[in-house]
Amino acid sequence: MTTVLVTGGAGYVGSHNVMALINSGFNVVIFDNLELGHIEIVEVLKKVSASGKVIDFIEGNLKSFDDINSVFNKHNIDAVVHFAAYSQVAESVKDPQKYYFNNVYGTLNLLKAMMEHNVYRIVFSSTAATYGEPEYVPIDEKHPQNPINPYGRTKLMIENIMDDYDRAYGLKSVRLRYFNVAGADSNSRIGEWHNPETHLIPNILKSTFGSDKSFKMFGTDYNTKDGTCIRDYVNVEDLAQAHILALKYLLNGGETSFYNLGTNEGSSVKEVFSACEAVTNKKIKLEVLGRREGDPAALVANNQKAALKLGWIPKKTLTDSVTSAYNWEKELDKNYKY
Ligand code: UDP
Repeated sequence: MTTVLVTGGAGYVGSHNVMALINSGFNVVIFDNLELGHIEIVEVLKKVSASGKVIDFIEGNLKSFDDINSVFNKHNIDAVVHFAAYSQVAESVKDPQKYYFNNVYGTLNLLKAMMEHNVYRIVFSSTAATYGEPEYVPIDEKHPQNPINPYGRTKLMIENIMDDYDRAYGLKSVRLRYFNVAGADSNSRIGEWHNPETHLIPNILKSTFGSDKSFKMFGTDYNTKDGTCIRDYVNVEDLAQAHILALKYLLNGGETSFYNLGTNEGSSVKEVFSACEAVTNKKIKLEVLGRREGDPAALVANNQKAALKLGWIPKKTLTDSVTSAYNWEKELDKNYKY
């Protein structure tokens, strides 16, 4: 049976991937330092996997070579899916050192440990932020990569490092450039859990808990159809399926490659807000503020390459994502009061 190491498997995107890997019959080892991930999520995943698939959780930090190397000493790893990273754009501008050390140096340690144990296949969690300010939309993979903040630069550096390692050592990578990830497990067992939360959908939904809360909309004067920013919201379970396909592609001897993961469709902040009101059946209090620094007006993926080469077709709609996100928010509110 194939054993997959998932770094950052206790986090939002990572945990949904662990769920999908377990359901696809893989053995899974989670490596996470629990700084942003949650042990409660690991416990849920362990329960799900009790039906037969082996799952181990190892707490450790990628900045420590010994921590990550010991995982490969303990388990016979066949491939890695690498999520562990900081991902807040604003924080990366304020404290770039934190990002370069964790994201870039941490990945260097991971790649070193992999190759010392003859593991040469990795699926990497990259981002649309590597493209920077869009020169055209929808953005395809040929769009120039000129990230405009340290977060995006760390992810692009890692992509470049992976290309160099392929040329020199034969390390095969698939880099998946996510647009805006949304939604939660359809059965509400796991979901997005950031503290503080900065993302649009959970923030709108959170404002429905407690009567005094309002949702803050950043900017209504963009050059878009309704003045608010347009993003491409891709469902987290659809996203997980893309990772499974990428992993299988690598395990079948696939070459290094990279794909956009998005839906080809943009939704404005106002449209997302309306979808949240419709799903929750509540009138949500709205406060319009000025623009948030660094937000491009529109980011939409051209996802044809992933469809053609990986056979990945996202199936869920924005309403599906808002519905599962809302169900998860109710779970968070009830069971994990924070
Ligand atoms: N946004 C907002 N209020 C919030 C959070 C986000 O108006 O509380 C807007 C944000 O300005 C952007 C869009 O929603 O235009 C998506 O932001 P998010 O942080 O979810 O993702 P990003 O596109 O920044 O990765």
